[in-house]
Amino acid sequence: MTRLLIMGPPGAGKGTQAVGLAERIGGAHISTGDIFRENVANETELGKTAKKYMDAGQYVPDEVTNAMVRDRLKQPDAESFVLDGYPRTADQVDELDTILAEIGAKLDGVIALVVEDREELVQRMIKRAETSGRADDTEEVIRHRQDVYDEETAALVPIYRDHGILHEVDGTGAIDDVAARIGAVVDSL
Ligand code: ADP
Repeated sequence: MTRLLIMGPPGAGKGTQAVGLAERIGGAHISTGDIFRENVANETELGKTAKKYMDAGQYVPDEVTNAMVRDRLKQPDAESFVLDGYPRTADQVDELDTILAEIGAKLDGVIALVVEDREELVQRMIKRAETSGRADDTEEVIRHRQDVYDEETAALVPIYRDHGILHEVDGTGAIDDVAARIGAVVDSL
């Protein structure tokens, strides 16, 4: 069993890398953003709640997100997993620890993709916006999502460093090169 988190600012390539990483470990790719988008598309109650926050580039309230992740992690295919986009707040870190304790599991590692240059991230996302069709991919909302990351999520990096499970990986350069760096970390776990 391998249980991993991948984190990094919006545009760092989490989603892209998480798919390959989940295949590599034979686990589930659990992206809170993807699950929310699926619920928005299907017009579920959860989707209706999430949409107003997502469109504005705000985080969905913790109690909504936590309940959704709790359900997902208890599914039978989630013994090994890559969590992508969760946790994003200190409260979600605590909740994840609680959920994992309930199922007798613990995290093996946290991969933090590092891209220092904010402007590179914004430009990557503006480019992706041409094809993503995401309502939150306008330049204004993209910039706001970066600020929210700095305010709420950047603080998780030192938390996981203190837990002794943080692995920072250079997120710049070609997708395959970043994947190789992540692969080397995972092989060393
Ligand atoms: P990004 O490219 O910004 O990393 P995601 O696809 O991971 O995008 O998330 C899109 C949106 O979904 C976020 O801006 C937020 O509104 C919501 N969301 C995703 N994960 C979480 C979370 N862990 N907590 C709160 N909101 C979340």
